[in-house]
Amino acid sequence: MSKRFRDERAEMKALTQVAEDAGEQTWVYCSACRRAMRQGDCVVTDDGSLHCAYDDCTPEGNLAYKSLYGWDAYRLAHGVETAHWPEEPSLGDCYEAAGVGP
Ligand SMILES: [Zn+2]
Repeated sequence: MSKRFRDERAEMKALTQVAEDAGEQTWVYCSACRRAMRQGDCVVTDDGSLHCAYDDCTPEGNLAYKSLYGWDAYRLAHGVETAHWPEEPSLGDCYEAAGVGP
């Protein structure tokens, strides 16, 4: 059973958070599998970094916590590309940024 962000103590949450705040309900976006999740569901690894909550995420997402961003922060940083994204994402849905691709 993996340790989740919501199981952390408050001071650890402040150190491991990837969103704008340390809230468990705050939405996080994974740029590796392009899905959203609640920050509380993110997996905390032994080295204290936060990883994607989806078991079937790409190896990239499970190795590099840099693939996680706060949902609002990511949309702010990619305004035009994410203009069609909702305020509140849905679990399991895939959100592609326009103009980004192979
Ligand atoms: Zn992922």
